Amino acid sequence: MLKKALEGEPKYRFKQCYRAIFVDLAESWSEASSLPVELREKLEEVCPISIRAEMKEDAGGSEKALITLADGLAIETVLIAHEDGRNTVCVSSQVGCPMGCLFCATGRIGFKRNLTRDEIVEQVLLFARRLKLSGDKVTNVVFMGMGEPFLNYDNVMAAIKFLNDPDTINLGARRFSISTAGVTHGIKKLAAEKLEVNLAFSLHAADEATRSKIMPINKKFPLPAVLKEINKYTEKTRRRVMFEYVMIDGINDSPKQAEELARLLKGYLGFVNLISYNRTDMFRPSSAESIRRFKQVLEKNRLPAVERHRFGESIEAACGQLSARKNR
Ligand code: SAH
Ligand code: SF4
Repeated sequence: MLKKALEGEPKYRFKQCYRAIFVDLAESWSEASSLPVELREKLEEVCPISIRAEMKEDAGGSEKALITLADGLAIETVLIAHEDGRNTVCVSSQVGCPMGCLFCATGRIGFKRNLTRDEIVEQVLLFARRLKLSGDKVTNVVFMGMGEPFLNYDNVMAAIKFLNDPDTINLGARRFSISTAGVTHGIKKLAAEKLEVNLAFSLHAADEATRSKIMPINKKFPLPAVLKEINKYTEKTRRRVMFEYVMIDGINDSPKQAEELARLLKGYLGFVNLISYNRTDMFRPSSAESIRRFKQVLEKNRLPAVERHRFGESIEAACGQLSARKNR
């Protein structure tokens, strides 16, 4: 759209515009002082760069944006400000999600559509603008918002390549992580990419029966096939995979299940991330005691495990808890 709007203008205008959007992080064309006033007015009309978003802040340092897209659908994006100075944007890749995991608020609303490259980029841009106000920057981007990124592979990769470009946000490939529920062909494609993007896999149960119960998609992409693809990915990239494991009371949190998990992941290049379950309308979160015991079993078996701390609970902004109620 920008290219079309700049037809007939000198060539360097395109670079100036990119600079205004991605380096100066202008909120609207009126702030792009390097451009002539008439051009700014024209651009404001034909390709506006303002983003329609409602913000909710949390005392714990996270912030959630409800973004309204051009067609009126809504998505959610979260900023997590870590104590160590990292600013991670958790982006959505789809409006809703077709995978239907029982514990997931996004899964419960079903699938509406894939996001375009620019709609993914826009989510990062929104928080880059907000962080600029306090002199900060986006340091990491994780595809852990609404949707299954590997069912929108091309647009997700196009967005990563775009944000990685020195002419835009210039964020290193290793600062991106894609989380998948186990779309094998996506893992395979990622392994073949030149860009070294991190991979996270939503495992959530080591045995097929439990996994199929909470993640119906396990029947289409069974665990052995997914793990085989992950193994190939790590062999090729030598990058550690994060195995996500949401701790759900009485479903997947027993010491016996921890033993099974340790057995399953023996020899894999990766670590387990124990995630506290954010209550949706199903299940209860595991107690702190069950999580502690579960982690102990993994450690005893020398399987590296970390615990993801709760954040953004009061604004329902933990990654993977996004629902954009507006769409229902
Ligand atoms: N579709 C992808 C990425 C988005 S979900 C995937 O499933 O991996 C990002 C993470 O949040 C996943 O690990 C998902 O299982 C987790 N998640 C979903 N609902 C959650 C909830 N209610 N509480 C905690 N984590 C949840
Ligand atoms: Fe989709 Fe991921 Fe939610 Fe499952 S956990 S429904 S794959 S967004």
